[in-house]
Amino acid sequence: MLKNNGDGDASLPHGGEVFLALGSNKGDRALHLRNAVHVLNGNGFLVRRVSSVYETDPVGCETGAAPFLNCVVRGSWNASPETLLNLCQTLEKESGRDPEHSHWVSRELDIDIILFGDDIIETDRLKIPHPLAHKRAFVMIPLHEIAPNVFFPNLRLSAEELLKALVPISGIRLAQEIPTLL
Ligand code: ADP
Ligand code: MG
Repeated sequence: MLKNNGDGDASLPHGGEVFLALGSNKGDRALHLRNAVHVLNGNGFLVRRVSSVYETDPVGCETGAAPFLNCVVRGSWNASPETLLNLCQTLEKESGRDPEHSHWVSRELDIDIILFGDDIIETDRLKIPHPLAHKRAFVMIPLHEIAPNVFFPNLRLSAEELLKALVPISGIRLAQEIPTLL
Protein backbone atom coordinates (compact mmCIF):
# COMPACT_ATOMS: atom_id res chain seq x y z
CA MET A 1 0.00 0.00 0.00
CA LEU A 2 1.24 3.50 -0.81
CA LYS A 3 2.26 5.40 2.30
CA ASN A 4 2.24 9.13 2.56
CA ASN A 5 5.86 9.55 3.45
CA GLY A 6 7.11 11.16 0.25
CA ASP A 7 10.77 10.37 0.47
CA GLY A 8 10.66 10.90 4.24
CA ASP A 9 10.27 8.93 7.44
CA ALA A 10 7.78 6.04 7.32
CA SER A 11 8.10 5.42 11.06
CA LEU A 12 6.25 8.59 12.04
CA PRO A 13 2.98 8.32 13.96
CA HIS A 14 -0.18 8.05 11.81
CA GLY A 15 2.01 6.67 9.04
CA GLY A 16 3.19 9.84 7.41
CA GLU A 17 4.16 13.43 7.41
CA VAL A 18 2.24 16.64 7.66
CA PHE A 19 2.34 19.36 5.02
CA LEU A 20 1.25 22.93 5.71
CA ALA A 21 0.75 25.71 3.16
CA LEU A 22 1.63 29.17 4.43
CA GLY A 23 0.67 32.44 2.77
CA SER A 24 0.89 36.16 3.51
CA ASN A 25 0.05 39.26 1.47
CA LYS A 26 -0.19 41.91 4.19
CA GLY A 27 2.41 43.65 6.33
CA ASP A 28 5.93 42.26 6.40
CA ARG A 29 5.08 39.15 4.43
CA ALA A 30 8.44 37.39 4.75
CA LEU A 31 8.53 38.09 8.48
CA HIS A 32 5.07 36.55 8.97
CA LEU A 33 6.16 33.37 7.18
CA ARG A 34 9.50 33.17 8.97
CA ASN A 35 7.89 33.74 12.35
CA ALA A 36 5.23 31.09 11.66
CA VAL A 37 7.88 28.47 10.81
CA HIS A 38 9.79 29.35 13.96
CA VAL A 39 6.76 29.26 16.28
CA LEU A 40 5.37 26.06 14.76
CA ASN A 41 8.72 24.42 15.38
CA GLY A 42 8.71 25.59 18.99
CA ASN A 43 5.20 24.27 19.65
CA GLY A 44 5.32 20.61 18.77
CA PHE A 45 5.42 20.77 14.97
CA LEU A 46 8.85 19.42 14.15
CA VAL A 47 9.81 21.23 10.95
CA ARG A 48 11.81 19.00 8.62
CA ARG A 49 11.81 20.96 5.38
CA VAL A 50 10.63 24.31 4.06
CA SER A 51 10.19 24.99 0.34
CA SER A 52 11.48 28.05 -1.45
CA VAL A 53 9.31 31.12 -1.11
CA TYR A 54 7.16 31.94 -4.14
CA GLU A 55 5.37 35.13 -5.01
CA THR A 56 1.84 34.73 -6.34
CA ASP A 57 -0.56 37.20 -7.90
CA PRO A 58 -3.61 37.56 -5.65
CA VAL A 59 -6.73 35.84 -6.99
CA GLY A 60 -10.16 36.79 -5.75
CA CYS A 61 -8.90 39.33 -3.19
CA GLU A 62 -10.01 42.98 -3.03
CA THR A 63 -8.85 45.34 -5.80
CA GLY A 64 -5.25 46.46 -5.35
CA ALA A 65 -4.34 43.58 -3.03
CA ALA A 66 -0.60 42.86 -2.77
CA PRO A 67 0.89 39.64 -4.15
CA PHE A 68 1.18 36.70 -1.76
CA LEU A 69 4.32 35.08 -0.52
CA ASN A 70 3.72 31.33 -0.27
CA CYS A 71 5.65 28.32 0.89
CA VAL A 72 5.03 24.74 2.03
CA VAL A 73 6.36 23.31 5.28
CA ARG A 74 6.89 19.63 5.88
CA GLY A 75 7.07 18.25 9.39
CA SER A 76 5.71 15.90 12.00
CA TRP A 77 3.08 16.35 14.65
CA ASN A 78 2.35 13.90 17.44
CA ALA A 79 -1.16 15.03 18.41
CA SER A 80 -4.48 15.25 16.60
CA PRO A 81 -5.13 17.25 13.43
CA GLU A 82 -7.66 19.35 15.37
CA THR A 83 -5.03 20.48 17.86
CA LEU A 84 -2.73 21.33 14.95
CA LEU A 85 -5.52 23.44 13.43
CA ASN A 86 -5.90 25.20 16.82
CA LEU A 87 -2.18 26.03 16.78
CA CYS A 88 -2.36 27.28 13.19
CA GLN A 89 -5.36 29.48 13.97
CA THR A 90 -3.65 30.89 17.08
CA LEU A 91 -0.65 31.82 14.92
CA GLU A 92 -2.92 33.46 12.34
CA LYS A 93 -4.52 35.58 15.07
CA GLU A 94 -1.18 36.48 16.63
CA SER A 95 0.06 37.69 13.25
CA GLY A 96 -2.69 40.32 13.38
CA ARG A 97 -5.17 38.59 11.09
CA ASP A 98 -8.74 39.66 11.71
CA PRO A 99 -10.48 36.68 13.37
CA GLU A 100 -13.75 37.69 11.64
CA HIS A 101 -12.00 37.63 8.26
CA SER A 102 -13.87 36.58 5.18
CA HIS A 103 -12.33 34.09 2.78
CA TRP A 104 -11.16 36.30 -0.06
CA VAL A 105 -9.36 39.18 1.62
CA SER A 106 -5.74 40.09 2.22
CA ARG A 107 -4.26 38.45 5.29
CA GLU A 108 -1.11 38.66 7.36
CA LEU A 109 -0.96 34.89 7.64
CA ASP A 110 -2.89 31.90 6.35
CA ILE A 111 -1.95 28.37 7.34
CA ASP A 112 -3.77 25.50 5.68
CA ILE A 113 -3.21 21.86 6.56
CA ILE A 114 -2.71 20.19 3.19
CA LEU A 115 -1.93 16.60 4.13
CA PHE A 116 -1.88 14.75 7.44
CA GLY A 117 -0.21 11.46 6.66
CA ASP A 118 -2.68 9.22 4.89
CA ASP A 119 -5.63 10.56 6.85
CA ILE A 120 -8.81 11.59 5.10
CA ILE A 121 -10.86 13.93 7.28
CA GLU A 122 -14.25 15.45 6.48
CA THR A 123 -15.64 17.41 9.41
CA ASP A 124 -17.26 20.85 9.57
CA ARG A 125 -14.00 22.35 10.84
CA LEU A 126 -11.43 20.34 9.00
CA LYS A 127 -11.10 18.85 5.56
CA ILE A 128 -7.89 16.95 4.81
CA PRO A 129 -6.47 16.66 2.21
CA HIS A 130 -7.30 20.34 1.78
CA PRO A 131 -10.01 20.28 -0.91
CA LEU A 132 -8.50 23.08 -3.03
CA ALA A 133 -4.81 22.25 -2.63
CA HIS A 134 -4.41 20.24 -5.82
CA LYS A 135 -5.96 23.07 -7.88
CA ARG A 136 -3.65 25.75 -6.51
CA ALA A 137 -0.27 26.30 -8.16
CA PHE A 138 0.89 28.21 -5.07
CA VAL A 139 0.45 24.99 -3.07
CA MET A 140 1.42 22.37 -5.64
CA ILE A 141 4.62 24.02 -6.91
CA PRO A 142 6.26 24.35 -3.46
CA LEU A 143 4.85 20.97 -2.37
CA HIS A 144 6.29 19.31 -5.47
CA GLU A 145 9.62 21.04 -4.84
CA ILE A 146 10.08 19.33 -1.47
CA ALA A 147 8.01 16.13 -1.86
CA PRO A 148 7.25 15.18 -5.47
CA ASN A 149 6.21 11.65 -4.51
CA VAL A 150 3.84 12.55 -1.69
CA PHE A 151 0.47 10.91 -2.22
CA PHE A 152 -3.02 12.43 -1.98
CA PRO A 153 -4.98 9.52 -0.49
CA ASN A 154 -8.37 10.91 -1.59
CA LEU A 155 -7.31 11.40 -5.22
CA ARG A 156 -4.91 8.48 -5.37
CA LEU A 157 -2.37 10.63 -7.19
CA SER A 158 1.08 12.01 -6.32
CA ALA A 159 2.05 15.68 -6.12
CA GLU A 160 3.96 15.20 -9.37
CA GLU A 161 0.91 13.82 -11.18
CA LEU A 162 -1.35 16.55 -9.79
CA LEU A 163 1.08 19.32 -10.74
CA LYS A 164 1.27 18.01 -14.31
CA ALA A 165 -2.52 18.27 -14.49
CA LEU A 166 -2.34 21.96 -13.54
CA VAL A 167 -0.43 23.26 -16.58
CA PRO A 168 -0.44 25.88 -18.04
CA ILE A 169 0.54 27.76 -14.90
CA SER A 170 0.88 31.53 -14.60
CA GLY A 171 1.02 34.21 -11.92
CA ILE A 172 3.65 32.53 -9.75
CA ARG A 173 7.41 33.03 -9.58
CA LEU A 174 10.26 32.43 -7.16
CA ALA A 175 10.39 35.31 -4.69
CA GLN A 176 13.58 37.30 -5.08
CA GLU A 177 15.81 38.14 -2.15
CA ILE A 178 14.02 35.99 0.42
CA PRO A 179 16.60 33.99 2.36
CA THR A 180 15.72 30.43 3.25
CA LEU A 181 13.14 30.20 6.05
CA LEU A 182 14.70 27.28 7.89
P1 ADP B 1 -8.96 30.10 3.29
O1 ADP B 1 -7.71 29.43 3.77
O2 ADP B 1 -9.75 29.26 2.31
O3 ADP B 1 -8.78 31.49 2.82
P2 ADP B 1 -9.62 30.46 6.03
O4 ADP B 1 -8.16 30.45 6.31
O5 ADP B 1 -10.39 31.66 6.41
O6 ADP B 1 -9.92 30.21 4.52
O7 ADP B 1 -10.20 29.15 6.72
C1 ADP B 1 -11.57 29.00 6.90
C2 ADP B 1 -11.84 27.70 7.66
O8 ADP B 1 -11.36 26.60 6.94
C3 ADP B 1 -11.21 27.57 9.02
O9 ADP B 1 -12.06 28.10 10.00
C4 ADP B 1 -11.05 26.05 9.19
O10 ADP B 1 -11.91 25.52 10.16
C5 ADP B 1 -11.44 25.51 7.83
N1 ADP B 1 -10.63 24.41 7.32
C6 ADP B 1 -11.13 23.27 6.80
N2 ADP B 1 -10.17 22.45 6.40
C7 ADP B 1 -8.99 23.08 6.69
C8 ADP B 1 -7.64 22.72 6.49
N3 ADP B 1 -7.29 21.54 5.92
N4 ADP B 1 -6.68 23.60 6.89
C9 ADP B 1 -7.03 24.78 7.44
N5 ADP B 1 -8.30 25.19 7.64
C10 ADP B 1 -9.28 24.35 7.27
MG1 MG C 1 -6.80 29.07 5.63
